[in-house]
Amino acid sequence: MKLTILGFWGGYPTKNSGTSSYLLETENYHLLIDVGSASLIALEDHLDPLQLDAVILSHYHYDHIADLGVLQFTRQLKRMKNNLERAPMFPIYGHQGDNENFKRLTMDTVSEGIAYDEGQKLYIGPFEIQFMRTLHPVECYAMRIVEIKTGKILVYTADSGYLPDFVTFSKEADVLLADTNFFNGMENHRVHMSAAEVGRIAKEADVKKVILTHLPQVGDLELLKAQVINETPKTEIILAEKDLVIEI
Ligand SMILES: [Zn+2]
Ligand SMILES: [Zn+2]
Repeated sequence: MKLTILGFWGGYPTKNSGTSSYLLETENYHLLIDVGSASLIALEDHLDPLQLDAVILSHYHYDHIADLGVLQFTRQLKRMKNNLERAPMFPIYGHQGDNENFKRLTMDTVSEGIAYDEGQKLYIGPFEIQFMRTLHPVECYAMRIVEIKTGKILVYTADSGYLPDFVTFSKEADVLLADTNFFNGMENHRVHMSAAEVGRIAKEADVKKVILTHLPQVGDLELLKAQVINETPKTEIILAEKDLVIEI
């Protein structure tokens, strides 16, 4: 499978790049994970938004859903133009813990909100997805996504403070896409993880590659990366950047 970074900043967009959004593709399937600010424009450089098969959302903070409404409008308006009115409803997966936001996933004739559950595996196209509730001020879920055909594993921490359960959840992942919003010195925070905490998870879970994302706008990102490497010197560590493509 192929992972493309569309947006990677935490909280708000800056320097011509947006917030959390990741395109995960196999040959025949295109899944968008979170739809942060500026992600729709970034998506267009890789895929016609009409070709997306589904969206999955970790939680409903603005930096993860900012472009969802305009994605729904894109599909509504382009469908009319392309005479696709009878095309199937576009599935948008999210949790139902926040009913007001969950309801917005459904738009008449355009999209249908589909709830996922932490206790149940979800099968979307070529993927099997497991969920883990994270440590965050609002209900949020990490995802362990397995490409069924190849057994390759992507783990996305979504937004979270450090939880020991991430070690089991990320076990032997090919890629760990990790919330690394903080430099060292901010350990045991209830919203995001520090570089050292991400490094520790990567080492203990024996993951092959880590992509640092949900990055801070202030500070030296090379230092952030060095702080992760310090905990797990043998693991490949990559800073997320717009349009970065990783083969998994
Ligand atoms: Zn966020
Ligand atoms: Zn958040």
